[in-house]
Amino acid sequence: MKKISVRCPLCRQQLFLNIDERKLRLAPGGIISIPIIHGNKPHILLVYLDRNGLIRGREVFNTLIDMSYKVPFRDIIKIVGEKVLAKILAAGVTYSPIYVRLNEKVSKILQAFLSGIFQGEILLTVDKASAEYTIDMISKHYDTIIGEKYFLKIIKDCLKLESDKSKILKIASEIENLRRKANDAIAYLSKRKMLVAELEVQLGLSEEEFNIIRKIIKNKRPDLAKRIIDGFLDLIY
Ligand SMILES: [Zn+2]
Repeated sequence: MKKISVRCPLCRQQLFLNIDERKLRLAPGGIISIPIIHGNKPHILLVYLDRNGLIRGREVFNTLIDMSYKVPFRDIIKIVGEKVLAKILAAGVTYSPIYVRLNEKVSKILQAFLSGIFQGEILLTVDKASAEYTIDMISKHYDTIIGEKYFLKIIKDCLKLESDKSKILKIASEIENLRRKANDAIAYLSKRKMLVAELEVQLGLSEEEFNIIRKIIKNKRPDLAKRIIDGFLDLIY
C-alpha cells in the first residue's frame, strides 16, 4: 500500500488515502482517478495519480453526493445509453482509464453514478493522451472495449431488478468477479501452460467469461496468452 496525502482546493482539508500499488501498475494509460468523499458538507475530491502514485491533477465535485443517490438507474440509461454504460463498465474490469467526451452536466451525473459502483476507483479521465479508450459522445466515436457485450447483457438483466441498490450491487459484483478470475488466470499461467478446458474448470469459467479473460490476457500479458493451449494437438507441437 502506498500512502498519499493531498489538500482539497475547496475546503483546504488535508486528506490521506491508501492505494494498492497493483492498481497503479494496472492502469495501462498510466493515470487513474480516485474519488475522496469528505467534509461536513460532503463533496468529492477527484485525484488523478500516475503509475508512481504521483498526483497529476485534482478536481472537486461539489454537488456529487446528492446526485449519486438521486439519479435513478433508468435515467442514467436514458442519458448515456446502455451501450456507452456497458463500455465504461467493461473498461472498469481492467482499471482502464477512459476519456469520455460529453457535456459537463452529463459528465457529473455519470461520475456520481460510477462512484457508487466502483467505490474507490473511477476511471474517467480528463486527459485524452493517457486514456486507453475514448468514448466521444459528441463526435460519436466509440472505441470497442473488451467485455462490452457481456456488460450490455448484465445491464439488461439489471433493469429487471427491483431497487437501484440491487442493480448497483449486481454490476459491482460482476466487475469484481471478472477481475478476480482474470487475476487467477494470470497467476496460473505464470506457472505453466494450460489447456482451455483446464482453465475453465479450475477457475469455474463460463465460455463467455473465458473469452473475455483470454482477450484481457492477450491485451495485458501477451507473453502469458501464448500459454493458453486450445487442444491436445497443440500440446504436442
Ligand atoms: Zn474538500
